[in-house]
Amino acid sequence: MSKDTQSLQCSLQLYKTQLKQIHDALLVASEEQKADLEQVAKDLEEIILLTETSLSTTAAQESDASDSQNESNLEEELSALEGVKCKVPFKYEWGGIGYHNAIILGSELNEDGLVYVKAVFMHPTNKKMQPCPYYLEGNCKYSDDKCHYSHGYAVRLDEVQDLSDPDYSQIIEGCMVLAKYKDDLWYKGRVEDIIKGTEFSVKFLHCNDVLLLNLHCVYPLEEQEEDSSSEFSTEEDDDDSQFTSKCLEAYNTGCARGAGVESFGLWEQHTRGIGSRLMAKMGYVHGSGLGKEGEGRIEPVEAMVFPPGRSLDRCMELREEAGSLNMLSVEKRLERQKAKAEIRLRQIANASERKASVFDFINSKLIKNSGPHSKEAPPGTSSSRPRTTKLGHLTREKLNVHSLQVGEEIRKAERDIAKLKQSLQRQSDHGDLASVSQIRLRLVDKEKDLDQLRASDRHIVNEQKQRKSSSKLTIF
Ligand SMILES: [Zn+2]
Repeated sequence: MSKDTQSLQCSLQLYKTQLKQIHDALLVASEEQKADLEQVAKDLEEIILLTETSLSTTAAQESDASDSQNESNLEEELSALEGVKCKVPFKYEWGGIGYHNAIILGSELNEDGLVYVKAVFMHPTNKKMQPCPYYLEGNCKYSDDKCHYSHGYAVRLDEVQDLSDPDYSQIIEGCMVLAKYKDDLWYKGRVEDIIKGTEFSVKFLHCNDVLLLNLHCVYPLEEQEEDSSSEFSTEEDDDDSQFTSKCLEAYNTGCARGAGVESFGLWEQHTRGIGSRLMAKMGYVHGSGLGKEGEGRIEPVEAMVFPPGRSLDRCMELREEAGSLNMLSVEKRLERQKAKAEIRLRQIANASERKASVFDFINSKLIKNSGPHSKEAPPGTSSSRPRTTKLGHLTREKLNVHSLQVGEEIRKAERDIAKLKQSLQRQSDHGDLASVSQIRLRLVDKEKDLDQLRASDRHIVNEQKQRKSSSKLTIF
């Protein structure tokens, strides 16, 4: 609210108060005062009306101004997004999500009040991410969702992440980079040689091809993934390379040329020309096919050889991993990873088992030193010392451990007794009197043992109760 509006409202309030006072005065006024007062009241009413009118006009003007300001601010902010490099979450066909480097083509405010940006990927690793050359020329005959290539990837602005500038000084001999292959997709590769700091000889891991690339065709990887790269570069057998060449063949079949270039740029009606500038920046030459030598196909082709007998989900996953080539080796790699993970799990399990046994050992030591019955004590003969002694010097933790241990022994004794009773039944059925008497003796021993354990347990419980109540006493 502006100062004008505020002062107008103050005056209006004042006029209304005055008018009310005049009306009050009129009630008690003499006849000659009345005429004057009525005149003043009329004037005031007119002033109030005028003030109200002017107030509403001012308010309307102000809200108009702020609206248009907001609009132009938003438009400015949105247009400032164009050309911004960022990371965009890309949803793979098999359901996973990965963040990929992209450039924002344009943006729009949706009806739901959310800002969506349209982005093209700088380093497409699959065809779905690759900008559609037909669309760029304004004559793709497929709809946005039917085309095998990207017509710009729409994503909510709040899902877009910052992309820091690449540090090309990171690229040294032997390091891993993202590099553009002949098919215009980007794959992982190892830098084998750097020539004059501007050309890079890169060995692609998916096919073992070595290409000489300029700076625009390599991109430093954020993290050097030593582990996976070493697995990537492991030897590939004949099956794999055969598969690779089959894929490549399938890939290159149907490369078409000669799309009409007159219509180029029609698509930019919606993107204010930023697209072609960006495409030019990425090395796209007007009217040519995509690719290093402009050899990329122009007609969208979907020919893909998948490993036999795999689920579609699996194939998609493999294709994403492999970037459409050499899926068998990738599958092997994934299996190796899985096997490794399993070994790791087993090691962890063993370790925790070991830990448990160490714990047991400590406990048994502890119990042996502090309590009269340890695991080593022979059953039935362990009553040389009474069980129910000397709990007083145990710490609360030791007492608890002790109590658990006794509980465990009670259950074990109960199980043993049940077993003995069963075998006693069996033996007496067979009429084996010697065995029966032997079992009876053991049974008696066991039952004595159990009685003592139970007594011990009661004793521990008492001790715990006592401590609880005494600790309560010390609190107050
Ligand atoms: Zn298209």
